[in-house]
Amino acid sequence: MGSGGEPVGRDTVTPRVVVVGGGLAGVAAALDAARWGADVTLLERKHRLGGLTWSFSRHGLVFDNGHHVFLRCCTAYRSFLDDLEVSDRVVLQRPLDIPVLAPGGRRCRIRSASLPAPLHLAPALVRYAHLGVAERARLGLALVALQRLDLADPALDRVTFAAFLARHGQRRETIARLWDIITVATCNLPAGQVSLALAAKVFRTGLLDAADAADVGWSTVPLGDLHDRPAQAALDRHGVDVRFGATVEAVEPATAGGVGGAGGAGTPAWTVATPDGTIRADAVVLAVPAPVATRIAPPGSLPDLDGLGWSPIVNIHLVLDRRVTELEMFAAVDSPVQFAFDRTAASGLATSGLPGGQVLTLSLSAADDLVGQPSAELVATHLEALRTLVPAATGAELVDAVVVRERQATFRGAPGSADYRLPPDAGPPGLLVAGAWCATGWPATMEGAVRSGIAASSAVRDHCGLPVTSSRPASSPLTPTTWTVPA
Ligand SMILES: Cc1cc2nc3c(=O)[nH]c(=O)nc-3n(C[C@H](O)[C@H](O)[C@H](O)COP(=O)(O)OP(=O)(O)OC[C@H]3O[C@@H](n4cnc5c(N)ncnc54)[C@H](O)[C@@H]3O)c2cc1C
Repeated sequence: MGSGGEPVGRDTVTPRVVVVGGGLAGVAAALDAARWGADVTLLERKHRLGGLTWSFSRHGLVFDNGHHVFLRCCTAYRSFLDDLEVSDRVVLQRPLDIPVLAPGGRRCRIRSASLPAPLHLAPALVRYAHLGVAERARLGLALVALQRLDLADPALDRVTFAAFLARHGQRRETIARLWDIITVATCNLPAGQVSLALAAKVFRTGLLDAADAADVGWSTVPLGDLHDRPAQAALDRHGVDVRFGATVEAVEPATAGGVGGAGGAGTPAWTVATPDGTIRADAVVLAVPAPVATRIAPPGSLPDLDGLGWSPIVNIHLVLDRRVTELEMFAAVDSPVQFAFDRTAASGLATSGLPGGQVLTLSLSAADDLVGQPSAELVATHLEALRTLVPAATGAELVDAVVVRERQATFRGAPGSADYRLPPDAGPPGLLVAGAWCATGWPATMEGAVRSGIAASSAVRDHCGLPVTSSRPASSPLTPTTWTVPA
């Protein structure tokens, strides 16, 4: 038996696993490892869980760092919500229905029809009023070409999505008014910059392979009530030792050598250095951003991942003195506004001193040009733009505005990014990596984070040579929502 191991059967011991990082990847890894029988400690440098998904209070209202959505095809994330016992705190559309507004009152919607995939999108695209008839007719060329791609072909990560679209008859205007609505929101880069591999994954898995895959879901409560506190409770239920304020400075091979029983003779054990001392483990999962993983792993054990780069997201929360739209969510074209979400109920505005008001969150992805702008400028520009999209906003007064800049919101999914996305077992035996940046095939999403965490936990289990001792619960049905689109 090794340092942390205790006998759990004649031939096995309980492996001691340390997970570094309490984002969604770390929480998913810790829960999964605890479920199959590991003795798990989770070390998080902050004093909350949820990583890049977090909430804060201001003047009695609660805002998220950024509005987060998921799709029905995000099966790992939805199961994760089940694990956290919070599936009743999200809504999930049926069918997909995104109103798309343009200045001057022009609007249409991307709505899926009751037809088998991929025909379910055809009626919406034929009627897509933000494109001319000829452009709409050419959409089919790119959709058919997308369906023919082999997603496993590494060549897809060598070109941009825009280059592919141009090859298949899509003009610049078509890309800006249709393709970029999805690409920017899901990959955090426009078609002109994103790798074809990532965009193709989104369009195939999210839109083309199943008729209900792209139904959009989101939280009805602040992210802190969806991820942070429920994750703490779930980890507690599974006996995971969660330590906050525990910044890991280094992970090193233990000088004492192998941990007998867990990984077998000769398996290296690890020491994890924190400001409060060292912890010894049979396996360590580094569920931290890519550059942090390289920095705290033993020198040379992981490649230099700085080349992956970052793509920022800016969110502007506008508190208005009255309701200006009944739409729960909309996208915009020909406007600096990209997506807007009604967060009135989640923010607590209805029960505050401004019961008739509205909180609209403007989510601005691929925000390289915005992230350095002063808040007052961002608010003024986007409020003005909102007023051209939603005329009722013209008479509304701005009661408060909050700008949240996430400079390192997601990895930069440019061509070549796949070279930096590692599988969980890319490091030395027993030192695993997890995070949305890992090689899941998904863009930087909550789904990718959860998948990577579970993959890392499976790799630990394999490393320790232990059988699975429990199974994940099935995903529960989620609450449907309906849309109101004013005429
Ligand atoms: C504004 C914004 C909007 C987004 N919108 C969406 C969306 O709509 N849909 C979607 O699916 N995704 C969205 N994302 C992306 C999604 O939030 C992330 O992909 C996902 O949360 C990443 O999880 P992670 O666990 O991989 O990493 P992180 O959340 O970065 O977690 C890493 C954790 O490690 C901790 N840590 C770092 N260093 C150390 C150390 N040395 N010791 C201990 N702990 C350490 C950090 O504090 C953090 O808690 C958005 C992201 C942002 C920022």
